[in-house]
Amino acid sequence: MERRVRVRFAPSPTGPLHMGGVRTALYNYLFAKKNQGDFILRIEDTDQTRYVKGAEDYILESLKWCGFQPDEGPENPGKFGPYRQSERKALYKQYADQLVEAGHAYYAFDTPEELDEMRERLKAAKVASPQYNAITRNSMKNSLTLSEDEVNRRLASGGPYVIRIQIPRNEEIRFQDAIRGWVVVHSSNLDDKVLFKSDGMPTYHMANIVDDHLMEITHVIRGEEWLPSAPLHILLYRFFGWEAPTFAHLPLILKPDGNGKLSKRDGDRLGFPVFPLEWKDPETGAISSGYREKGYFPEAFVNALAFLGWNPGTERELFKLNDLVEAFSLERVGKAGAKYDADKTKWYNQQYLREKSNETLVELLKPHLAAKGWNVDAVDLTEMVDLMKERAVFVEDMLEGAYFFEAPSTYDEKTINKKWKENTPAIIEKLLQVLKGLKDFSAEEIEKEFKAFIEQEGLGFGAVLPSFRVLVTGLGMGPSMFRICNLLGKEETIRRIEAGLTKMNG
Ligand code: GLU
Repeated sequence: MERRVRVRFAPSPTGPLHMGGVRTALYNYLFAKKNQGDFILRIEDTDQTRYVKGAEDYILESLKWCGFQPDEGPENPGKFGPYRQSERKALYKQYADQLVEAGHAYYAFDTPEELDEMRERLKAAKVASPQYNAITRNSMKNSLTLSEDEVNRRLASGGPYVIRIQIPRNEEIRFQDAIRGWVVVHSSNLDDKVLFKSDGMPTYHMANIVDDHLMEITHVIRGEEWLPSAPLHILLYRFFGWEAPTFAHLPLILKPDGNGKLSKRDGDRLGFPVFPLEWKDPETGAISSGYREKGYFPEAFVNALAFLGWNPGTERELFKLNDLVEAFSLERVGKAGAKYDADKTKWYNQQYLREKSNETLVELLKPHLAAKGWNVDAVDLTEMVDLMKERAVFVEDMLEGAYFFEAPSTYDEKTINKKWKENTPAIIEKLLQVLKGLKDFSAEEIEKEFKAFIEQEGLGFGAVLPSFRVLVTGLGMGPSMFRICNLLGKEETIRRIEAGLTKMNG
C-alpha cells in the first residue's frame, strides 16, 4: 500500500520567520494538499540557548495570515504529538542509547579545552577543517579509546558527556534528492556529530530524524542550507533500520543584486520587508517591517513566493493558493537560486487589488479614511475606489483621492510651471461658465460639453485639462476628471475653480 503523504514544516523559534522559511512552509503545504496528504507543523526548540520569546506565536500567525494552516501542530495536535520537541525530551535518549549499543555511536567525555587543543593541533598540522572524525576520535577521550571500566566509572559519576555518531571510515553515502537528483558524499568528509548533548537534550540531527520517523513523514522538503546535513541523516536512518523519507532541498532565495542569500540587511538596504509580519525584537525593541503591515495582500505575497524557485511551465502568473495546489509539483522546482524581485511582488499586489470588488475595497479603505479624520459618509466611496483603484498598488495608495474630502490647499508646482500660461485664467473662466450652465452634471455630459468647448475654442486637451485638474484636485495627474467632477458635485467643482482662479490671480 502506498504510504499517505505526510510532510512537515519544522522551524526553530529563534526569531521571526524569514520569507525563505515561509516559502518552505508553502511548498510543503502545496505538496501535501496536491497529494491529499497532511501538512504538519513541528516546533524544533531543543536549543534552549537560541529560544526567542514570541517566535512560536509569530510562526503560527504568519502561517495563518498566508492561509496555510497545519493539519497537525502544537495548536491542533493529531495522534503524533507532542508537536514541540521540548515536550518530547524524554523520548530521545533511548534512541541515542540504541545507537551506542549497536556500535553506531559512542560516549565522548572530552572537555571544551581538550576539544580546542585538538583543533589547534590539527590546525598546526595544516589540516584544512579540523574535526572530530574517524581519525581524530582515536586520540580523544571516548568510549572507543577508554577502557570499559573507565567508561562505566565516568558514566556513573554523573559528569558531563555527549553521544557522538560513529561515521564509517571509508564509504560513499548516496541518496536521490527529488530536486537535485543523486547526491553522493564520501564519509571521510563527515564528522562525528554530537547527537545527544550533556544538558540531556538531543541535537537537531537526532531529534529531527527520530521525529520524522515517529511522525511518519514521507517527504522532507526544506532549504538548501540543510543539504550538507542530509548524508548524516541518511546514515542515521540506516543505523536505525528505518526507511528514509524522500528528500527535496529547495533552492535559495537570492538577494536582488549580486549573489548570496537574501538577508534582512538586503531588505533594509533596498527598502522591502523580508518578514511576512512586522516583528518587534523582545530584547532590543527594534522593529522589522512585515509584508502584512506594509499593505500587501496575503495572496499577492504567497503568489510571489511560489514563483521564487518554482514555475508552472506556462505563461500564467496569477495563482491563488488553491490554483497553486492544483499546479504544484516538485519536478518544476529548480536547482538554481531565485533572485528576489521586490517590484514583482508589488505587481502581484496591484493585480490582486484590481481583482477585488469595489465593496471589498471600500471596507479596506474605510479605516484609512477614518484615521485621517475624514467623513466617510460624505463621499460615494464605491465610486471613489472605482476611480482610484486603477492607479493603486496598495489600498493606502487610494488616499491620493484626499481631494474628495478636502479642497486642495496647494497646487502641484510642476503642473503649474508647465501648464499655467498667460491665457489660462481666461480659458478656465470660460470653462467655468460652461460648467455652470450644465443642468445634468453626469460624467458623460461634462465630458461632452468639455470636448465641445475645447473644439470651439480651437484648443487641445493639454491646454485645458491639466490646469482644470490642478484647480479641482491640486494634483497633476489622476483618474477621469469628468468622473471626479461628477463625484464632487456641481457646486463643489465650481467653488474650487473659482477659489483657484482667485488664488492664481492673486
Ligand atoms: N529546525 C530546522 C530549521 O530551523 C529544520 C530543518 C529541517 O527541515 O530539517 O530549519
